Amino acid sequence: MKKTAKALLKFIDESQTAFHVVETIENDLKSKKHQELKEDEDWKIEANQKYYVKRADASIILFTTPKNFSNKTTYKIIGAHTDSPSLKVKSNPVSSKEGYQLLNIEIYGGVLLTSWFDKDLNLGGRVYTENQKGELESHLVRLPYKLRIPRLAIHMDRGVNQEGFKPNPQTHMFPFMGLGKEADFESILQKQLKIKDKIMSWDLYMYDTEPCSLGGMNEEFIYAPRLDNLASVHASLVALTESKNSADDIMMASYFHNEEVGSSSQNGAGSNFQEATLRRINAALGKTESEMYETISKSYFISADMAHAIHPGYTQVHDVNHKPEMNKGPVIKSNANVRYASDGLSIAKFKQWCNAANVPYQYFNISNDMGCGSTIGPMTASRLGIPTIDIGNAMLSMHSIREMAGTEDHKLIIDVFKEFYK
Ligand SMILES: [Zn+2]
Repeated sequence: MKKTAKALLKFIDESQTAFHVVETIENDLKSKKHQELKEDEDWKIEANQKYYVKRADASIILFTTPKNFSNKTTYKIIGAHTDSPSLKVKSNPVSSKEGYQLLNIEIYGGVLLTSWFDKDLNLGGRVYTENQKGELESHLVRLPYKLRIPRLAIHMDRGVNQEGFKPNPQTHMFPFMGLGKEADFESILQKQLKIKDKIMSWDLYMYDTEPCSLGGMNEEFIYAPRLDNLASVHASLVALTESKNSADDIMMASYFHNEEVGSSSQNGAGSNFQEATLRRINAALGKTESEMYETISKSYFISADMAHAIHPGYTQVHDVNHKPEMNKGPVIKSNANVRYASDGLSIAKFKQWCNAANVPYQYFNISNDMGCGSTIGPMTASRLGIPTIDIGNAMLSMHSIREMAGTEDHKLIIDVFKEFYK
């Protein structure tokens, strides 16, 4: 149990931004002999092989092909997202005020703002440079400096514990870079990249510097940033890469950027990345469009994203019969208004895999007086016309800089995913 959870801690510690998530996955796939397919090249797909394709450095789809392609072949896909709520660096990033150098950031996704104060923050992501020949080059970067967004002392904010801490995202959320005049941000990046090429642009995000750990008296908890949704990414990655190629099926895991901001981007789940990949595999196998839709109708998509565990201090926010607990197995998420994609057929099939893997499962439906979150599930189901379920492990502190989940759950969900990929 703990070995599996510790592998997740290492994965998250290495994967600070969506770009680094894809880099970590790609390094793992290369070591396991997956071949890269490029979107701007022709694809040759053979039986009994392992492949992956990336888009815009922050999304990646990996798959293995069956020993034999036949009319029994289906797609078995697990989807998740590579991004997490964060603070993104603006285009004119540095300002100075009252003797401090400040970093200008935008809020990326549904950040639990208060959790980002008084934490040691780092900065990283992707930078584009222009070389001597006028060519653009992309670089991944992590800056080594610890930055801070400090709270106001309670002496100057006496009512804060009664009235609540309500930070203004424009006027209070400035990571402090140092003292003195405004630093030249481009030369900071050049220094870190050890290059003199011109800095053209960046996609840089803040992240927590504190390493992940196990906690609780029996190490029953995982304490980590970005568990939503790197826990689901890691679980499906482990399940797929540790599974043998199937006799009949194409086993796939698809990881998308920008779920936290609605998935409508070049490489979000609302893009054509998933569909284009299926179409290109189909074309490379010399199959007709009709055959592709025959295959898709028999296929299955698991949308894996984290679920809300019951919090003993706030039991009123859960429906009385739907209170997921940690370390009690994956949560099947359903919603009458289809904010989750699960339906009768997809739930029944998923329960069969849980039963076969001897893994318990739980249910989540929202309390009727609360708004329901959503996932990539409904989007992929409607776009592809593929039977889809929404599931995920129970966690607390979702969208806090530091989240919390169950140690045993991680192994349990991997066991179900392995059964799915059998
Ligand atoms: Zn999520």
